[in-house]
Amino acid sequence: MKIPMRQCSACRGHFEKRQLLRIVRTPDGDVLLDQRGKVSGRGVYICRSEECLNKAVKTRALSRALEAPVSDETIESIRQAIRESANG
Ligand SMILES: [Zn+2]
Repeated sequence: MKIPMRQCSACRGHFEKRQLLRIVRTPDGDVLLDQRGKVSGRGVYICRSEECLNKAVKTRALSRALEAPVSDETIESIRQAIRESANG
């Protein structure tokens, strides 16, 4: 079976989909972290790594890929999810 691979928008590396976090721009234009991979809309992926998140914030990689602003709140929820996956 073929493993679905996705590209991290920060480091540009390709990884298994389940290793990445998905961030979605919903049809309403909201940008949010898609914890379960079920939210419909335009999605981008990022490594579960604060290094990649910081890089994405600095280069605005997420908002450019999504063509929508990413709120600090969304960034914080991504950071939280990264920390949680690092802990367990
Ligand atoms: Zn990455």
